[in-house]
Amino acid sequence: MTSTSAPDSYDVVILGGGVAGCVLAARLSEDPARSVCLVEAGRDYGPQGAAWPRKVLDARSLPRDDVWERHTAVHRIRARILGGSSCINGCWNTWGTQADHAEWERAGGGRWSAPAMERYRLAAAEQMRLRAVPDREFSAWSSGALAAARELGYAEVDMGTSGAPGYGTPLINAFGGLRRNAAFAYLDPARSRPNLTIVGGAHADRLKVRSGRVDGVDIDVDGGRVTLIADTYLVACGTYGSPAVLMRSGIGPAAHLREHGIRPEVDLPGVGANLADQPGVFVPLAPTEELNAALAGKEAHDELYVSRMLVRAASEYCPAGSWDLHILPIAGPPLFGKLPPGQYEAGISSFLMKPVSRGRVRLRSADHTEPLDIRPGFFSDPGGRDLAVVRSGLRIVEEMAGTAALGHLVHPLGTHPAQLTDEEIRDRAGTYWHPVGTCSMGTRDDPLAVVDGVGRVHGVSNLRVADASVLPTVPAANTQLPVLAAAELLADAVRD
Ligand SMILES: Cc1cc2nc3c(=O)[nH]c(=O)nc-3n(C[C@H](O)[C@H](O)[C@H](O)COP(=O)(O)OP(=O)(O)OC[C@H]3O[C@@H](n4cnc5c(N)ncnc54)[C@H](O)[C@@H]3O)c2cc1C
Repeated sequence: MTSTSAPDSYDVVILGGGVAGCVLAARLSEDPARSVCLVEAGRDYGPQGAAWPRKVLDARSLPRDDVWERHTAVHRIRARILGGSSCINGCWNTWGTQADHAEWERAGGGRWSAPAMERYRLAAAEQMRLRAVPDREFSAWSSGALAAARELGYAEVDMGTSGAPGYGTPLINAFGGLRRNAAFAYLDPARSRPNLTIVGGAHADRLKVRSGRVDGVDIDVDGGRVTLIADTYLVACGTYGSPAVLMRSGIGPAAHLREHGIRPEVDLPGVGANLADQPGVFVPLAPTEELNAALAGKEAHDELYVSRMLVRAASEYCPAGSWDLHILPIAGPPLFGKLPPGQYEAGISSFLMKPVSRGRVRLRSADHTEPLDIRPGFFSDPGGRDLAVVRSGLRIVEEMAGTAALGHLVHPLGTHPAQLTDEEIRDRAGTYWHPVGTCSMGTRDDPLAVVDGVGRVHGVSNLRVADASVLPTVPAANTQLPVLAAAELLADAVRD
């Protein structure tokens, strides 16, 4: 790409080289006759190899270098790097419930049903080389937590598929303690294709929308500005980034756009609305000497993973046979901050998987370099149901902490987290980092729908959104695998 005045043209331009963007670029460039350009604001460290900083690859931490904002509230953390948040995440992969599919099917049609999505789930799992955790990788903590779940009467389940509540181990995309991110999995096999152009360090500002069509996208790259032209434009900038690109382009809630001097081209009130994420409360537990020693031994052999088990649990609000909580025991180096050598953090979280509350993403100004106004809206549902579900999970946390299986690994709790007040839960809430919904799919008569079931933006003929933002509801799962599968589905739809 050059920064001359002549625009570069492609069949498809993809904005955002994250989890979904990598899938889209790889799948759409399989046809040598289709020219594809992938545009990513963050760095492209190239194919898997020495150029990738060890810190970005270390699957035992959540790296914070290649992100949009360095010192910020935890819910705002999002990657700015080719490979997207798969380069900074926990490498856990799970799947949601049949009810999640029913919700998506109502919004997007039959291709979002569980049977129809199965081939995409399988394709994503294969490409990422998702694997079960071998026994030797379990720490004393993870083994103890598995025994604790059994002690509480939970059945073992397969975390990689829909099914019943129970305990199990998520599928992981880490090997020898190193992350296999979506750029390695999807782009490395495609990089040598002459019809695929990958541009790192390229910040998409706005699409030029005229009379219901896009006729170019303005990008900042190498200190200059270029305009790319394509037949089809795919926006995959993630749940925070995609609505921002749309709004800067005049697609969004008209009054909000006018406030920032942006001329509305298509009035879509759903752009940036309906933000759904999964808050949770972490209950710290004091590790015994036995646990610290066991974890230090594992760490010395480079085998220490933060945790490799979880419980899918049901609160009293959950439909029978489903789950609305993840109970997540962890013990290892602290995710944020540092402890002296040989000491570790331990604790159990209660995560709300099916929030009723909704937040929103808005612009602070028309300037694309300005941070976004992101309000997660945690626990904002007037009925207080989300607080009640988290509290229900905290009762399970108390039970788990009190099991014989964990009794020799952590000191007794001494408090009653389930008795936390609403304010205390709000103050202590963190996030599981699974935001979705800000360019939600839905039918034309749905006032908050932004795209249809194949990602086409309502009112703009050659523009699609294809990432986590199109999911109208968050699944009762970690979102990486669902987003990979959704992107496989949406790539297929573009090829149709
Ligand atoms: C800290 C953290 C931990 C997580 N842990 C897990 C986990 O263990 N398991 C799990 O299943 N999920 C996890 N997730 C969630 C998972 O990573 C996301 O669901 C997934 O990455 C969403 O994919 P996406 O393509 O929608 O967005 P992303 O992967 O975030 O990609 C969006 C990309 O678009 C780029 N972009 C944005 N705006 C622009 C622009 N204007 N121009 C150009 N490029 C732009 C960004 O730089 C980014 O690379 C975690 C997320 C985070 C942040």
